[in-house]
Order: sequence, then structure tokens, then C-alpha cells
Amino acid sequence: MNNFFHTKIEFLKGVGPQRAELMQKELNIYTYGDLIQHYPFRYLDRTQFYKVAELDESMPYVQVRGRVRGKEVLGEGRKQRLAATLVDEDGNEMELVWFKGVKWMQKTLKNHTDYIVFGKPTSFNGKWNMAHPELEELGEEKQTASFLQPVYHTTEKLKAFRVESKVIARMMEVLLKVAAPNIHETLSPELIDHYRLMNKRDALINIHFPQSVEKYNAAKFRLKFEEFFYIQLRLLRQKTVRRADLAGQVFRQVPTVTEFYKNHMTFDLTNAQKRVIKEIHKDLTAGKQMNRLLQGDVGSGKTIVAFITMLIAADNGAQSVLMAPTEILADQHYTGLKAFADRLGINIGKLTGSSKTKDRKVLHEQLRSGEMKMIVGTHALLEDVVQFQNLGLCIVDEQHRFGVEQRSKLWRKNPRIIPHVLVMTATPIPRTLAMTLYGDLDVSVIDEMPAGRKEIVTVHRFDSHRLKVFQFVRDQIKLGRQVYIVYPLIEESEGMDYKDLTDGYESIRRAFPEYQVSMVHGKLKAQDKDYEMQRFVKNETQIMVATTVIEVGVNVPNASVMIIESAERFGLSQLHQLRGRVGRGAEQSYCILMTGYKLSKDSKTRLETMVRTNNGFEIADIDLKLRGPGDLMGTQQSGVLDLLIADLAKDAPILQEARAAAQRVLNEDPQLEQPQNQNIVRHIKSLSVNTVNWSRIS
Ligand code: ADP
Ligand code: MG
Repeated sequence: MNNFFHTKIEFLKGVGPQRAELMQKELNIYTYGDLIQHYPFRYLDRTQFYKVAELDESMPYVQVRGRVRGKEVLGEGRKQRLAATLVDEDGNEMELVWFKGVKWMQKTLKNHTDYIVFGKPTSFNGKWNMAHPELEELGEEKQTASFLQPVYHTTEKLKAFRVESKVIARMMEVLLKVAAPNIHETLSPELIDHYRLMNKRDALINIHFPQSVEKYNAAKFRLKFEEFFYIQLRLLRQKTVRRADLAGQVFRQVPTVTEFYKNHMTFDLTNAQKRVIKEIHKDLTAGKQMNRLLQGDVGSGKTIVAFITMLIAADNGAQSVLMAPTEILADQHYTGLKAFADRLGINIGKLTGSSKTKDRKVLHEQLRSGEMKMIVGTHALLEDVVQFQNLGLCIVDEQHRFGVEQRSKLWRKNPRIIPHVLVMTATPIPRTLAMTLYGDLDVSVIDEMPAGRKEIVTVHRFDSHRLKVFQFVRDQIKLGRQVYIVYPLIEESEGMDYKDLTDGYESIRRAFPEYQVSMVHGKLKAQDKDYEMQRFVKNETQIMVATTVIEVGVNVPNASVMIIESAERFGLSQLHQLRGRVGRGAEQSYCILMTGYKLSKDSKTRLETMVRTNNGFEIADIDLKLRGPGDLMGTQQSGVLDLLIADLAKDAPILQEARAAAQRVLNEDPQLEQPQNQNIVRHIKSLSVNTVNWSRIS
């Protein structure tokens, strides 16, 4: 236990109880350890000096050297300000202005004295000025002044109590001085050597107060590396533990699979599907429990892979479950799988919240006796009454909708031997993220679409072209197709959005009196939602006006047009998911992104990306870069994304190295018993068991 870093920050010189309490509330900084890991989010370059003639409004913060000539207080009351003139060595002038602390500045600012001023230059009526610059008298520059000046995240409330970035920097200086002797190396000498890493103490000092560009870069690399290293070490250890401890049923027989391939397949599997099935098959015959994530873009054909996996289980006397997050999805999976199962004479059932008591009884019975081989359903499957003769395989679709606990409830339904697990997700997760989030899972990817699939044509249209878009919709419906029109409703409770939706619905009904229009949104009761969905599925309605509730998995092959209203308000991944609702049939499909003229730069990038590509992985990568990982679907609960310094979007190469390093360490010393790994062991021990991010100091 490294007690020094547990010291409460109120004991640090210059902090005190009041600021300490505020820093806890506002920044979650409780201890020395928290404070030292409050890394700067950017730096100001104070090595460059500019002359007034060189200034340019696009410059962020700059330093100018010059002499103060004249200062006066102007204006009255709230408009009062102090203005001073700074003259540089060429004789060019710049005005310095203070609106706050006028009296104080008036007193301390020395006339006819040389200063270095530091701030954001702006030009007004051809005159340069700088508001509230930082000042240093020339010749008095701090000798310790670091090369790059750290800027720390703070909040308005903290600023009101004068805890500005500069004040935090001062606290940091004080802290680093007392902390230095207590900072111990947390990586092994072998790793430090092999990856040429900066030591921990220097890294912490240089991340706050870089002594040179080289040292800053080395510090940054070291800390990012460490952060990734400990996450990967934890994940890889979990994986090894699982591998070593958990036996799995061995599924060697495949007679029905062979028969299915030979006589009942209506299409050829894509190479990607074949590869994934091979990977799964290998797991199922290895004698260890499978724990695999199957990623595949919408429409890539995950269902057939799921079915074949279930078939392998059935061939070996084991039962399997396919769990979906919603009733609609469970229905669709059931319908799809039943068509295959029927041809093979396999007993398959469905269990959802709306299954009738009478039917449930039969299902429960057949599952317990082992008569029923496959079951598709929702949460209802998790109930305790649902018991199996021999549950051998659990497949979970759209996994981010289920919590870890819910899922483990399913695994426990075989008390003798944990079932094999296949998690399917249509949310393409960039590799870097998958590695971090699912580092303890094996990952399979279907990265190829079935042949003959027509690319969805995506266009961006402005609201002013709505009439043309409506005409297009009319033409498509005349051809027998159906149309989705989606409105943003991010928070289901936002009144405004709801109004947009209902207004939209009314205007669509008015524009298309000759057709039937459905409306589905999150405020509807589940059964009403289902009822409307079913009407659309049966083509009783031609237009579906909806919110993002239709986002996940819904399959209506006859729907060939997706119109997304206020498309600028959707995230990229979400747009892609929505687009995936069309393009499921043989017909050419279209996605139309509607927006007004006013668009931010990011919105433009999102729209352009959608128009340019259908590739889910490319889109996920761009999305990650635009938004950062925190917002990506499925990642909110993970905790591992609570990174201090590393950036999943930008630091993929470091992540890869750190993962390789963690793997090397574990290969050579699985139990971390060797002397060279004791730094690592000590560090892990010093952290609370609940800490997900092992690189944290605590
Ligand atoms: P998703 O991965 O989104 O769940 P599905 O499994 O629903 O995709 O497959 C989408 C459609 O593609 C289904 O109608 C399915 O029958 C069809 N399909 C799947 N694999 C192939 C293939 N190899 N060749 C042709 N069609 C396929
Ligand atoms: Mg699917």
C-alpha cells in the first residue's frame, strides 16, 4: 500500500479544506494520487516570442515582449477598464486591457517597464489588443519556467474560488516536490529496457512540466503505455484464468450440419461466414468453454452462423438458446431459424414476455426433458422456472442491451458445465476498442457482405427539397416498396422531439393521403408498438414514421427507402444502423439524409462519410475519431474507457505494443512470480480490487 498517495489533498500546502472540498465535488480529486493524475489537457508554448507585426488573429495564445507606455482607467462603473499600451522593439503598439481587477492592475502594472505579455491577440479597427494578458517583468522570468506551460481542466465554480489552471499548476509544483521520493517504478526493469520507457518519476514530472519536447514525448508515451498495459494485463489474465479453469462440452459430431449444408442451404456462405464458422467449430471441439464475440455489419449474415452453431450443439445432444433484446427481434429470429429447423425436423421454440401461460408450461416441460433443442426469446428466458436438460450454448444478440449480470444468469442454467457463449453484435466496433472492451473475449468478424447485395444509395438533401423527396417516395411506393421516415428522439422524454415526430406524422399523412402510415415511438406500450410494427411488416402500412426505436435489428426486406430527418442530430454509428434497416431485399435501396442548411463541421463530416461509404468498420473508425470512445454504443458501462491519458482513437499503435508487452510478461511468468515482475505485482496490489483501470495511482 502506497499511503503517501492516499493523503487527502487538503493537507497539501496552498489547498486547504475549502478548496479541497470543491476539488472533490468538481473534479473528483480527493487524494494526492488523484491530483498528480490530473494531467494537463494542453500546453501553452512559451518558448516563442512574437512581434506585433507578426500577429495574426488565427493565433491562439502568444508571447510578446515590449515596454509599457502609459496606462489609464477608462469608463465608469461596470464599463470601467484599465488600458495600457505595449510597444515592441520595432515601435509597434498593442493595447492591453483589463476589465476585472482594475484597481489591482492599476497599482501593480509598472509604467516604462519591459514585460513579457502572454494572451490571445485580437485586432479591432486595425489595432492589436490583448485582454487580461499574463504578465512577467522582463529579467524576472521564472528560472524554473518549464518549456511548455500546462493547462489544466477546471470548472466555472472552481474559477469563482480562484482555482484556475494556473493555481492548479502551482499546487502541482508543490505536490511534485514532496511526491518525487515517493514515486516508485510500476513497470518491470525488463519492460522499461525493452520498450525504452522513461521511468515513472520523470514521466510524472515531465507530463506536468515538460523540460523539453523530447522529454515531454517520452513522458506521454510512458504513461499511455502503462495505462494500456495494465488494462491489457487484467484482460489477458482473465482470459487465461477462464481458459485454464473452465472446461467446455466437446461438440465433435456434425451429421445434421452436413445434411443441412448438402440439402437445405438456399445460398452459399460467404468466405467470411465460412471462416467464422471454422473459428467457432474449433472452439467447440477444444474442450474449453467458448467465449466469443461475433461482429458483423447489419445484413452480413450473422443469423445463419448462429443457426449452424446451434445445430452443432444439437448434433451433440446439447440445447441452445438465442436471446434477443426485444420482442420484435426475438420474433424475427424465431421465424428465420424455424424455417431452417423445420426442414431438419428440429424442435425449436419461442419464449417472450407475451408467451401464454399454457404455452409456457409446455415449453418449460420440453426444455427440462431435453425434447426441445433450440429456444429463441427475450429476457423471459432468464426466469428461474426456465431450466434445461443440458444447456450447451448461449447466443446473445445485440449484446449491449444486456447487462453482464443478466447474461451470467443464463450461463448458470447449466450447473454442471458452463455453456459455450457467442455474443453477436451489429455495432461494428473498431479493433482498438474491441481489444480494450472485449480483450477477454475472442473476436470473430464477418467482414464481407453476401454476393449480389446492392449497395444502398445514400444521398444528402436539404429540407428545401422536400417536395422532390416526397415525389421519390411516391414513385417507390408505386413500385410496391415501403418507406421508413425516422425522427431524432434521443431522450424519449424531450417534449420538443415528440412534437417534431407528431408534426412529422401529420404532415406525412397529409402528403400521402392515398397510403397508410404507421407511427412507432418509445412512449408507446410494447404491445402497441408491436402491433404497429406487425402492420408494417405485413405491408398493411406503406410508410413507417418512427424514432430510433426501429434502429436495432428489425428486418422488413420490402422496405427500400430510409429517410432520416434532422440527420445532423444523429451520431454516425446510429445513422449507419438506421441505414441498415433497408437494403435487406433484392431491390435497390436508398437512404436519404435530410437537413437544413446550417451544419457544423462535424455534421458535415458525418453526412459526407455516410454518402461516401457503406463500410461499417470505416464508419466506426471515423465515429470514434469524431466523438471519442465514450459515446460509442455499448461502451458506457464498461468502465475501462475511463482513461486518464491514453486515447483509443489516436493511440492504437501504443495499445498494440502494450498488449503485446502484457502478453509477453504473462507468457514468461503466468503467475507473476519472478523477481523482475515484482514492481507490477506491487502496483496491482496497491490498487483496490474495484479499480478497473489498473494504471491509476491509488
Ligand atoms: P445480420 O447479420 O444483420 O443479422 P442476417 O443474418 O439477418 O444479417 O442476414 C441478412 C439477410 O442475408 C438474410 O435475409 C439472410 O438470409 C441473407 N444471407 C445471409 N447469408 C447469406 C449468404 N451467404 N448469401 C446470400 N444471402 C445471405
Ligand atoms: Mg441480425
